[in-house]
Amino acid sequence: MADRDPDCIFCKIIAGELPGTIVAEDDHTVAFMDISPATRGHALVVPRRHAPDVGAVPDEDLAACAAAARRLAVRAKDALGADGITLMNSWGAAAWQTVFHFHVHVIPRYADDPLKLPWKPAPGDEAEIAAAADALRGG
Ligand code: AMP
Ligand code: ZN
Repeated sequence: MADRDPDCIFCKIIAGELPGTIVAEDDHTVAFMDISPATRGHALVVPRRHAPDVGAVPDEDLAACAAAARRLAVRAKDALGADGITLMNSWGAAAWQTVFHFHVHVIPRYADDPLKLPWKPAPGDEAEIAAAADALRGG
């Protein structure tokens, strides 16, 4: 895959062709503020090399993004007083992905923030859980 996609907004932010509020960078990653923050300090960590999603990103870039996301999460706790952090990635439109350049959301969480878990935890059907587990094991 080419290192950049000419139609990708995150590639343009990385290249300085679109405005982005960059908060951290290293050889493999760039972190910038999300333009529509879920909470105060919501940022995105992206690999410099274009890859559309978590299924396509090379292991090396995935590892670099994970490390960069953790650094930023620690920073958000120290600098913003976050009480917790949600790290999030969506793969595919069905999973809410809207920008197809792999990214990790670093979302500082506050005890009184308005975010809600998007599902209602309830005991599942044991047979269905076991069948899904079989499928995942390749059985
Ligand atoms: P996702 O929906 O998981 O693909 O996340 C894409 C994120 O990118 C959303 O939270 C958007 O608010 C954010 N976003 C879209 N355009 C920009 C931009 N130009 N600068 C910063 N963040 C952006
Ligand atoms: Zn891109």
